[in-house]
Amino acid sequence: MSDAKLSEYKKQISDAADNIMGSGILGKSSHGNISARIPGTDTFLLTSVSNLKQITMDNIGLFDLDNNLLDGSVMPASAEIIPMHGIVYKMRPEAGGAVHTHAPRATAFAVAGVPIPPSYEPMVRFGMANGVPVTTYGPRGSQESVDLIEQAIDGKEQIRGLLLGNHGVLSFGKDVPDAVDAHKIIEECAEVILASYALGGPKEIPAAQRLAAQVIMQTFAAVGEQKA
Ligand SMILES: [Zn+2]
Repeated sequence: MSDAKLSEYKKQISDAADNIMGSGILGKSSHGNISARIPGTDTFLLTSVSNLKQITMDNIGLFDLDNNLLDGSVMPASAEIIPMHGIVYKMRPEAGGAVHTHAPRATAFAVAGVPIPPSYEPMVRFGMANGVPVTTYGPRGSQESVDLIEQAIDGKEQIRGLLLGNHGVLSFGKDVPDAVDAHKIIEECAEVILASYALGGPKEIPAAQRLAAQVIMQTFAAVGEQKA
């Protein structure tokens, strides 16, 4: 692993922390962690502190998929969540980035044990046509919590993240910026759907229409930029 390669992905993580902080989606504690798979390897970088305000290029560790620390350092609170990120890369070969926070509106669904329903078009367009599932509670750092994540994403299509019961949100994507985008959409969906409960509650988009929305989006994407 070249140092330049590691630095490139550490920079992505550091930038992602700034991006998330700037987006206003975080809870007051600024708690969160971000990881990035090194492409073409079974290794990933993970923030070694639990506060997104404190992330720098120097406090990011390198791990293998068996959760062994290969380079850098990790603080105890972050060591607890290494397997939470590792399981994503084990289960989803296409995943290149993962983000965990306690974004408060999505976490409200997690605390209530309620999945986010597919009632808001942007979540469908972002590859979450079935909404966002919620797991039951597993203590942070336990094998049980990792098993629950594995069960939630195993063999599932149309999933970009999940709600960790009584805990928070975990999103993933093809790379770190993509995982950040998924995280923001999940929090935005939660905000919109929570507001809709004051107006009679969310109405699910029919399944066929969700798929139609994705096909239309792909059709326009295939055409690419149009110029007069
Ligand atoms: Zn957490």
